[in-house]
Amino acid sequence: MLIGGLQKLTLIDYPGKVACTIFTIGCNFRCPFCYSGELVLPEKILQQERIPETELFNFLEERQGLLDGCVICGGEPTFHQDLPEFIAKIKKLGYAVKLDTNGSNPKILKDLIEDKLLDYVAMDIKSSKEKYLFYSGEKAILQDIEESVAQLKKNEVGFEFRTTMAPGITKEDIVTVAEWIGAPEVNYFLQEFSGEKEVINPEILKLPTIKKEELQQLVEVIKTKFKKCELR
Ligand code: SF4
Repeated sequence: MLIGGLQKLTLIDYPGKVACTIFTIGCNFRCPFCYSGELVLPEKILQQERIPETELFNFLEERQGLLDGCVICGGEPTFHQDLPEFIAKIKKLGYAVKLDTNGSNPKILKDLIEDKLLDYVAMDIKSSKEKYLFYSGEKAILQDIEESVAQLKKNEVGFEFRTTMAPGITKEDIVTVAEWIGAPEVNYFLQEFSGEKEVINPEILKLPTIKKEELQQLVEVIKTKFKKCELR
């Protein structure tokens, strides 16, 4: 596994667990609002430090009993063929595993769930179906995204959907997203866009963003469609 970063302690990235976060290198999307360019863009990846797997597993062995879980995020973890073996090794040490994914690989997601390698999944919903291509940097195949959504809604593993409220995403977009993914078993979170970090495509910063107070109102409008819906 190509590992570009390790956050040794997080109390907020894995619901209900004390965890660490592992950042994998490489992504098949180019979301214009992405601020993880060093894990996504080949020219930046070259300069990115790498953490050897042995170092990571030494750390995980040391923290057994102190941490409950590992968050595997990216980049896009399902980009890597060895993800199942990597997760299996982590689980063998007794950790619960949360996968953060862009949902572009429903086949791997299904296999990981069926093989009981995941305890929780957070899947990004980049935008409404109409704008999905744009917000994935012209990379997403909508059918794959829809399959991943349907897979998670089978409720075979704990999961949540989340949308970063990137510039240009409108309230109407989110209402259509809620129509699409909403169901009584679904948790959905809107995440405020942080305009302070460098993004993959700075052109996107010219588009308007929705203010926090309005996002809060939007949550009130759509929350009846979900088990839980909040602004993060
Ligand atoms: S899916 Fe998009 S936001 Fe996530 S790492 Fe890849 S390019 Fe960045």
